[in-house]
Amino acid sequence: MSLVQRYRLRTRSDREVIRPVEPGRVYVDRETGEEFEVVGKVLPLAPSVSKLPWAVENLRLCGCSLEQLTPKDVNDCVTCGRRLPAVEQ
Ligand SMILES: [Zn+2]
Repeated sequence: MSLVQRYRLRTRSDREVIRPVEPGRVYVDRETGEEFEVVGKVLPLAPSVSKLPWAVENLRLCGCSLEQLTPKDVNDCVTCGRRLPAVEQ
């Protein structure tokens, strides 16, 4: 269970990180020294059973008739609750 909401942070030169943020804290890019700006929340929103950002490379089809996408790091489909087969490595 992932209870921490993660955010997409971006610098002026378009470097991005995804991480949890604490209110009032300033995050600086270690390589460029630029300040990160929060540009969005990363789906799925906390609390979620998945720790992966909601992106194509982290999703797979559940395989049920609903044909919903579900994160690769969960055991049960987040839409229908169906037990998912193990991910092939
Ligand atoms: Zn499903």
